[in-house]
Amino acid sequence: MRLDSVKKYLRHQSIMQRKSTFSNAFASALAPYDEFSREEVAAALRDLGQDPDGDLVCAYCGHTAQTWDHVFNRVIAGEFSGHGHRIRNLVPCCRTCNERKGQKPWRDWLRLLAPPDEHERVANFERFLSMADPAPITSDDMRHHTHAELSRFLEIRSEVFKLMREADDLAAIIRSRASTRKQNDWIGPDADGPSFVV
Ligand SMILES: [Zn+2]
Repeated sequence: MRLDSVKKYLRHQSIMQRKSTFSNAFASALAPYDEFSREEVAAALRDLGQDPDGDLVCAYCGHTAQTWDHVFNRVIAGEFSGHGHRIRNLVPCCRTCNERKGQKPWRDWLRLLAPPDEHERVANFERFLSMADPAPITSDDMRHHTHAELSRFLEIRSEVFKLMREADDLAAIIRSRASTRKQNDWIGPDADGPSFVV
């Protein structure tokens, strides 16, 4: 570890910085998912050119897999994309590819990565995806079937973000007043006041 790594702690941390985590949580809650079926997962892995009973490798670069990557992201620009936690949307992945692929389409990521067996990997992905559900759920589908529920759901999401912003503003006031008070010979917390220790 290098000295500079302490820097990430020595800065202001707001609640709104976590907005994408919350957006993801709301989108993930809408995302469809498959029940676990060992046979279906094994068949999907075989299509990717992997041994379902062996140690899995990253579908993009071939290094040891440490996680699963959603081939199609569940969230695009903060909104549910229509793609979910489906067996044919999850591939074994190393952490580096998982973090660096980001929102890039799988084909673009493979092209950028340019592994020596790129063509074979592309063919594997095509075979793997050929058995996937053809069309994602669109927000129009959702709106059509569950108009009132979806509207309320989105209203709650906005409300949560509004409350997070308000809490950030309050935190700024609390921080600033607490430090002013400290400079004026503040010697400890009030016996009946709130504690700032979290
Ligand atoms: Zn990888």
